[in-house]
Amino acid sequence: MTSDPSPEGIVEPAARETRDALHRPLHDLRISLLDRCNFRCPYCMPETEFHDDYQFLTRSQRLTHAEILKVARVATGLGVSKLRLTGGEPLLDKKMPELVKGLAALPGVEDLALTTNAMLLAPVAVKLAEAGLHRVTISLDSLDEQVFRTMSGGRGDLQTVLDGVTAAEQAGLSPIKINVVVERGVNDHTVLDLLDHFRGTGHIVRLIEYMDVGNRNGWRRDQVVSSKELHAMVQQRWPLRPLDRNYAGEVARRYQYVDGLGEIGFISSVTEPFCGSCSRARLSSDGILYTCLFATQGTDLREPIRNGADDDELGDILSRIWLQRADRYSELRRPDVAEHHALSKVEMYRIGG
Ligand code: SAM
Ligand code: SF4
Ligand code: SF4
Repeated sequence: MTSDPSPEGIVEPAARETRDALHRPLHDLRISLLDRCNFRCPYCMPETEFHDDYQFLTRSQRLTHAEILKVARVATGLGVSKLRLTGGEPLLDKKMPELVKGLAALPGVEDLALTTNAMLLAPVAVKLAEAGLHRVTISLDSLDEQVFRTMSGGRGDLQTVLDGVTAAEQAGLSPIKINVVVERGVNDHTVLDLLDHFRGTGHIVRLIEYMDVGNRNGWRRDQVVSSKELHAMVQQRWPLRPLDRNYAGEVARRYQYVDGLGEIGFISSVTEPFCGSCSRARLSSDGILYTCLFATQGTDLREPIRNGADDDELGDILSRIWLQRADRYSELRRPDVAEHHALSKVEMYRIGG
């Protein structure tokens, strides 16, 4: 199903498109395969909170692949054309290639991507490509060994991640995007080196403002390096030229290096919210559907599925959820207001960014 942007950038509805209360279509579904992770990035799963005794979801609490496929099938029937597998760390699910095969075969899927920290990517990259995965986004916050270790919570190995990038490239899982969360005083001084490494490779680095997702990372506004600041830093070294958006709802502001050595993106959820075009729903690994990254609650789909809801019934539930959706957290964000911090928000490791 296609949608044509009007001259004002408003997407005209296609025949079966479901629109939310703010007239936004449902185009993307992000599927979290599990809440576990082999990293402990302090901005996402700080070790102090996610320690050895932490109770992650059990296998029976998590959706099965058949249940995930059912939700994805129903979602594509409502206009979803982009699917992304995420986590936690999705590659901890050893049977992922089989799931990818099922998802790739769904009618209407135009884009099937994976977000991963790439520690486990190299050995399975070809298998995933053969199963029908289109592309990968790899999270890599620094090429400085020490900074990388800190930002992966002491768990990551830089060379293994870089081998994952190479394997993805060789398997044709491109365009490869490299996600970099920038935190002031932690990795901001290593950003230019990282960009230098990937310039000319065809991989697209995206610099992401550190977000106040969840309640466990101790986020403070002064830790955020704004996209404006980052853009100025990059521009001074390598002049940039803006590019048009690839599609309505794209989160990154795209630029190209004037010298022709590739593309770079800035994701500015904190300083320049993009809720107006947000077309994403997120499914946690225990089957809760969230309509915003910063949601305080979602809707349980696992129970109706396990009680025998057929595709039509599940479709009705999904439509109802989307029709009522009015989320625009980033536009309303008030970091200076105490109640704002008291909101009990879903954690990033549960819904995968
Ligand atoms: N484990 C996989 C990975 O790291 O790529 C997938 C899940 S991870 C939650 C998805 C993305 O969310 C990663 O690119 C990560 O850097 C980003 N992320 C997590 N916490 C964040 C935060 N507080 N602010 C901005 N991005 C964040
Ligand atoms: Fe794990 Fe990804 Fe969160 Fe890091 S950002 S702790 S790799 S889920
Ligand atoms: Fe979408 Fe919520 Fe982020 Fe706004 S704050 S862009 S509605 S996920």
